Formats: sequence, structure tokens, C-alpha cells
Amino acid sequence: MKKISSLNFPFHIIFFSIQPILFLYVKNANQLNFEQVAKPIILTFIISSFIAIICKSKLNFTSITSLCIFFFYYQYLIYLKLNAFFTPLKFPINPFLFFICSLLLLFLLIRTIYNKNVNSYFNIYSFFILISTVFYFDTFKKSISNKSETISSSNNLRNSNKDIYYIILDGYPNSTTLKTEYGFDNHLFINYLKNKKFYLVHNSISNYSLTFLSLASSLNWDYVNREIDDVKSIDRTTFYSLIQQNKTFNYLNKKGYTFINLCSGWGPTQFMKSADINISLNNKVNEFTNILLNTTILAYMKSYIPVLYTNTEVIDHSFSTLCKISLINKKKFVLAHILCPHDNFELVEPNDVITPSTFSRKALYIKTIDSLNKKVIATLNSILNQSKEKPIIIVQSDHGTSFGFNEADWANPTDKVLKDRMRNFSAIYFPDIDLADSLMTISPVNNFRLLLNNYFDEKLPILKDTSYFSNYIAPYKFKNVTEIVKFN
Ligand SMILES: [Zn+2]
Repeated sequence: MKKISSLNFPFHIIFFSIQPILFLYVKNANQLNFEQVAKPIILTFIISSFIAIICKSKLNFTSITSLCIFFFYYQYLIYLKLNAFFTPLKFPINPFLFFICSLLLLFLLIRTIYNKNVNSYFNIYSFFILISTVFYFDTFKKSISNKSETISSSNNLRNSNKDIYYIILDGYPNSTTLKTEYGFDNHLFINYLKNKKFYLVHNSISNYSLTFLSLASSLNWDYVNREIDDVKSIDRTTFYSLIQQNKTFNYLNKKGYTFINLCSGWGPTQFMKSADINISLNNKVNEFTNILLNTTILAYMKSYIPVLYTNTEVIDHSFSTLCKISLINKKKFVLAHILCPHDNFELVEPNDVITPSTFSRKALYIKTIDSLNKKVIATLNSILNQSKEKPIIIVQSDHGTSFGFNEADWANPTDKVLKDRMRNFSAIYFPDIDLADSLMTISPVNNFRLLLNNYFDEKLPILKDTSYFSNYIAPYKFKNVTEIVKFN
């Protein structure tokens, strides 16, 4: 009988199976409890060890197993990356064809290595990848800052008992952009809001161009430029912590508010540790497992796999929850970060997207805006009708749109690009207060300053509206573009 040396034991089957799970956890460590991750890791460890023991005597078979594991985890991710690159160049990749091609490539690779003993190479390689993931985690943990927020005094004469809703429609464009760029007159939606006594901030500009900066700023009522020392950094930890432990909730918590977060499906607002209640679609698998499985080849068939959910389901779930949430008999601050329109077509019929000849991409985008408007209207009707006391509602986008932008637009934005991205949507409902008398412009950094001054007798200064543009490659290389994007 052939003797197997310890280096020939197929550890790589175990390492390759665990590494993607560990990596996903590391990337999101500041928003996750380890308990959420422990189950998939332990389960994967047991199954992969079992497979490794079974096939250790068939060394050819072990490398094939690892290639298949790699295919399972990474094929879909590679498809997403390539598709994101080629779609703006008008060459969207057909997922079915890509799957067949990668399957052929897999068979070719298997044939090439079938008669070779690559076991020890695979062991060394997988060990190296696993170790670098662990080291990455170590550096990552050290950089987590623990910023504490100073909260203003709580000895105010007047304290509001009104529920507060902060509804963020990610990337919803300003009405001017919709009109000039898409020829879409958004007056039906605007008129609805005006009839309900919302103050429409027509000339609204966002303070930042990226979601994590915009939310860190609006939830902490301040500009966040000074939070970063190294402008070349791409580490988002400080800002994710600012979103997670935000000043707004710290303040409202002292006023007896319950913080309810509607899990968004995105980074820091997916699961907020500081929230009293995180509402998610967890009747199926937990968020971590869902995100993990959604990056594997199972994602191609997610509509047929009952345990997985799609972005559209998360969006629908957020709206249906908002429709019922006013019935919860607690004084509450509700944060609903909704990843729509977000330059996607989440709310249109899947068939319309698959056959783009029927509708242009711009037309699909407008269809998305239209469907979203209807959902927002139905939701606001429910909140306004069911609330015992008139609630405070802010419906706002974190920044404008970047629909149709390519890499050059992000790297060297023209004035048009800057206007599209920085002019956002903002509608504020402060019951019994006429905002038209008190302000001409308001950017998200001032939302809660204005709110606390009006309902909690604070005397917070209103900050100057400033717009800082930066891109994903250099998020902290801020460019003050206020003069370019502001309305004349
Ligand atoms: Zn955003």
C-alpha cells in the first residue's frame, strides 16, 4: 500500500474551502459578530476534512476537488467583475455562455494536472493564502479606531416624542438631473410630497460623493474630512465605525428612543451593533451565509434556491417593513438605508433587463425610478396614516446618480458628471413647522442639526453647505466642488 507523507495529506481541500469564508468575514469584521460566521466555518471545516480524508489515497482526485472548490467560490465573482467592466463598454457578458466557457476551462485544467502530483504545491499555495487572510485581519483589527462622540446636554425644556424616520434612497438623482439628463419630469412624485407638506429641497447638494462618507457625515452632523490622516489610504474602518456608533442615535438614545435599523444588504447599515433592533430577512439563512452563498456559483440559480434572497427582495422587505413599523408601540428612530435606485434595475421586470433591445438602459433606469416612487408613496401613506402622533420624516439620497459613468468619469469628472453625482434628492417632513421660512438650502450634514434645533431646543449652528467629490480609488482625496455643482 502506498504510504502518504504528511505533506501529501490534502490540507488544501480544507484551506481552500475555509479561506473565502474567512476573507468575507475579515472584510466585514467591524459589522459582524463572530457567532454569525462560526457556523459556516465549522460546518465547512467538518465537511472539507471529511472529503480530504476520503480522497487522501487518490492524490489525483484531491487536486481536482480543490479546483472544483475554487470554481464554486470564485467563478461567479469573476463573472461579476468582468461584466461590470464590459457592460459600460456596451459588451455585457452572457452569464450562461460565460458559465459554459469557464466549465470548459475547468475541464481543461483538470486534464492538464490529472496525472501529476501537485498536492504539495497546492498545500503550500493554499496555506499561504490562508495565512495572508489571517494577517490581513490582524492589521485590520489594529486600525479600528474607537472614537467616542461628545453629546450635547440633555437638560432641554422641550423633548419631542415623535417617531423619526431617516429613509435613504441610495443614489436617487435630483429632479433637475432627471429632467435634463433623462427627460423625465418627476412632478407626480414631487407634487405628492408637497401635498403631504414635505419641504422639497430643490437645490439640494450632497456633501460627499461616496455612500460611506455621506452617511458618516449626515449621521454625525459634521464634515468628516479631518477623520483621515493619510489621503492615500483606502481603509474605511473609521467611517464604518462612525456610521455604526453614530451621534444621532447616541443623542436620541438618551431621549428614550429605540433605534430600529432595517438591514440594507450593504456594509455598515446591514447589521448595526448599536441598534436595539435590526430587522432583516433572517427567516432564511443569516445575512453572512446569504452574502457568502451569493458570491458562489449558486448565485446563478438564486431565484430557484429558497434559502437565498436577492437585492430586490431586500428592497421589497424594507418597504413592507416600513409600512408596518409605525404600529410598533415605541418611541423610535428608524434608519432605512435602501439600496435603490443605486444605478441598478432592481425594481423592473427581470425580462426587461435581459432583453435590452426592448428598452434602452436609460429607459430602464427611469422605469426603476418610477417603480421606486410608487413604493415610497405607498410607504409614506402607511406611515402617515398609522402614526398616532405626526412623525418626523427625512427622505433623502446620500448622493446623486452615477448612472452610465465609466472609469474616466470617476477619474476626471466633467462638470456634468459632478452635477449628476453631487446634486441629490432631499424631502423633509417636520410636522407643524414651515421650513420654507427658515432655509434656502440644506445639505445632509445639517439634517439632524435642523431637526434637533426644531424639536429638542438645541442651538446647533447650521454648517455651510459644501460638496466634496472623491472616487473609490482615492476616497480621501477630496475636491471641493461646491461652486461647480451648486444651483444658481
Ligand atoms: Zn450611495
